[in-house]
Amino acid sequence: MSKIILTGDRPTGKLHVGHYVGSLKGRVKLQNSGAFDEIFIMIADAQALTDNADNPEKVRQNIIEVALDYLACGLDPAKSTLFIQSQVPELTELAFYYMNLVTVSRLQRNPTVKSEIQMRNFEASIPVGFFTYPISQASDITAFKATTVPVGEDQLPMLEQTKEIVRRFNSIYGDTLIEPEILLPDNKACLRLPGIDGKAKMSKSLGNCIYLSEDPEEMRKKIMSMYTDPNHLKVSDPGQVEGNTVFTYLDAFCTDEHFQKYLPEYANLDELKAHYTRGGLGDVKVKKFLNSVLQEELEPIRARRKEYEKDIAYVYQILKEGSEKARAKAAQTLDEVKAAMKINYFDDMELINAQIEKYSDK
Ligand code: ATP
Ligand code: MG
Repeated sequence: MSKIILTGDRPTGKLHVGHYVGSLKGRVKLQNSGAFDEIFIMIADAQALTDNADNPEKVRQNIIEVALDYLACGLDPAKSTLFIQSQVPELTELAFYYMNLVTVSRLQRNPTVKSEIQMRNFEASIPVGFFTYPISQASDITAFKATTVPVGEDQLPMLEQTKEIVRRFNSIYGDTLIEPEILLPDNKACLRLPGIDGKAKMSKSLGNCIYLSEDPEEMRKKIMSMYTDPNHLKVSDPGQVEGNTVFTYLDAFCTDEHFQKYLPEYANLDELKAHYTRGGLGDVKVKKFLNSVLQEELEPIRARRKEYEKDIAYVYQILKEGSEKARAKAAQTLDEVKAAMKINYFDDMELINAQIEKYSDK
């Protein structure tokens, strides 16, 4: 069986370091490993519209931002198909058929959708499209016959929903769809990177992000203002590293080599944490170290982005070609789905002949 990746991001803003450690960095690694037959990376504009119906301009403007961030991180259009969701209408058609395989109560149980509804203050006025986006995600994944979906932890319920749809579809209509596996980052801190305000998730919609394209000075300021341990007031106070965002980011980003380079009095993060915990280590020193680590990681990404920014027409061309390629693949799956459901009437000579027969002696 072919090994195929499908993943993507909503064009609701520039991509941030949470996306990077949660999914993007891993994607680039998988792309360059050569272990996959096909890789599809989707800019999920149709999904972004489910909670931005009144602001399509935001989505429209951010498509290029996400594409630039992709290319900046090292996604290579020669190896990965980059495409725009709305340009593949077959995905919407698939979702319409999958809707019949899912109950309203099942959708209501989705913990990610639940917390997103709360976050967006939708409560009594949830757009139907937003409510059903896990089904739309199932069609995105299955349309490409994806075997592997590298995403952050918040996507676990979507993968569960997709698997249920696949099983139900296959059991009713015969083996057609592929059950995908989620691929989470190995590093626990990367599963759901908190925001700089200490909130559970760095998220474009919460405005608590460090963007991949962040200007170096702006990033330094954000890091220096980050949430730490609110009880660690004096340098001499013992501090807490659990739930301390600066340490979570170090868990996500730093290596022993970073210590040799920027903070040689410690061999590794465990030593730094031990010092912080027993007291005598100030937040400023730790934040400055984090700044050095992040600046080093983001510098090549910023530089590559600047190169692509010089040729925006080329970036749109990449997306156009990617969308055409993606569409051909999704159309093939849709044909198979319709054949399995026996709603491919004009190709179904058995059906047509049987009807001819039925009416021939009347
Ligand atoms: P929005 O607020 O519009 O939903 P978002 O910041 O949550 O935006 P998405 O486009 O929904 O970003 O998510 C894209 C991918 O990035 C998904 O795979 C998601 O799991 C991952 N991701 C998003 N935020 C984080 C985070 N803070 N830590 C780890 N992974 C993340
Ligand atoms: Mg999200």
